[in-house]
Amino acid sequence: MDLAEYRRAARAWLEENAPSDDHPAADGITRAKEFMAKLYDAGYSGITWPKRWGGQGLTEAEEHAFAAEARDFSLPMYVFSIGLGMTGPTLVDRGTDEQRERFVRPLLRGEEIWCQLFSEPGAGSDVASLQTRAVRDGDHWVVNGQKVWTSVAHHADWGLLLARTEVEVPKHKGLTMFVVDMHHPGVTVRPLRDMSGKANFNEIFLDDVTIPDEHRVGEVDDGWSVAVTTLLHERLSISAGVGMGGQKDNPASLEALRRAVDTSDPLVRDQLVELHIRSRALALFNQRLAQEARAGIFPGARGSAAKLLLAELTLFQADLATQLVGPESVLAGHPLAQAISLAPGMALGGGTNEIMRNIVGDRVLGLPPEPRVDKNVPFKDLKVGTQG
Ligand SMILES: Cc1cc2nc3c(=O)[nH]c(=O)nc-3n(C[C@H](O)[C@H](O)[C@H](O)COP(=O)(O)OP(=O)(O)OC[C@H]3O[C@@H](n4cnc5c(N)ncnc54)[C@H](O)[C@@H]3O)c2cc1C
Repeated sequence: MDLAEYRRAARAWLEENAPSDDHPAADGITRAKEFMAKLYDAGYSGITWPKRWGGQGLTEAEEHAFAAEARDFSLPMYVFSIGLGMTGPTLVDRGTDEQRERFVRPLLRGEEIWCQLFSEPGAGSDVASLQTRAVRDGDHWVVNGQKVWTSVAHHADWGLLLARTEVEVPKHKGLTMFVVDMHHPGVTVRPLRDMSGKANFNEIFLDDVTIPDEHRVGEVDDGWSVAVTTLLHERLSISAGVGMGGQKDNPASLEALRRAVDTSDPLVRDQLVELHIRSRALALFNQRLAQEARAGIFPGARGSAAKLLLAELTLFQADLATQLVGPESVLAGHPLAQAISLAPGMALGGGTNEIMRNIVGDRVLGLPPEPRVDKNVPFKDLKVGTQG
């Protein structure tokens, strides 16, 4: 099938299968899972993922064609965004064959939901200073600690967990990555409400949670390199909108704003054009990174530039919407309130704008790196939570 045919077929499938707003009132998660199963069975989930693990083994061109069509719909995929954008690609890159066999297909088909357990109350930007401990006990590990800001954990079946396994070495060298069963009796998930009024993320308490050693991802004490793989995928997937399910219902989109405001005013048109240019520049940058990735050129730290651009675009869009529609746009119940109040989170989740700038300065532009006083100090001798 050539690309134009692929695109037509994708469009026809979406028109037939994308849930309509008046979908019968099944609960949100059931509805999302039903949709993902249909998406997978039709061959539109994991388009570029290896066939061997359940993907379609197609190219970035097909993925891009599908994403371009999907933008006109509202697909219930948010709950799968961590699995599709971060934990799944990490397992494909760094998991064992048994782990890929066990986890990847159910993830792509929406049968199992994933979350990412990295951040802690004292370890966000400096995630390598985390304190959650995993201690080996024969063929199992026993985990104790606390995580925070864990998106979709209240729906998750599995979590990708970064834990400390050694304290006698510098902080980055004593971490190990695991897959944790979120239904284990020692896992407590408590929702945290953000300023949009919704509780999309959570705090997690891990009390004597056992994890079989076969659920370790990568080598013992080499979790930092696995985490870097996840973070690279995270930044690319956030900027490309993986799992975000289209723009149709976004009241702050260019199309929605154009309908909502008086476009006879040239200053308004000017601002809408600015929004269009910024969106288009980011889309092209993402397209280029994806094409390069398919050609074997890994985007590396440039993924952080894409994520930074998206965060800045999201804030610009929210400010513009507030300015054009007026102060009532932020009142509870206004269609724009949700999009506006979630915008600042984009400059934090997946790494803050300051951290993205540090990475771009250091690893893309080759500027002098931040001074690192803690680089060679054993973790046990650090005053945790105070290092940069
Ligand atoms: C919507 C959302 C979803 C999230 N989902 C998840 C998730 O699913 N899983 C997960 O593990 N985490 C998640 N997070 C957490 C996110 O990764 C952290 O919030 C982020 O890494 C920042 O950490 P922090 O909040 O502890 O802030 P801190 O690291 O304490 O930073 C505070 C401020 O200091 C600045 N700062 C810190 N260090 C430096 C430095 N070296 N140079 C310059 N400035 C610096 C920061 O930019 C920030 O402005 C989510 C966050 C949000 C907002």
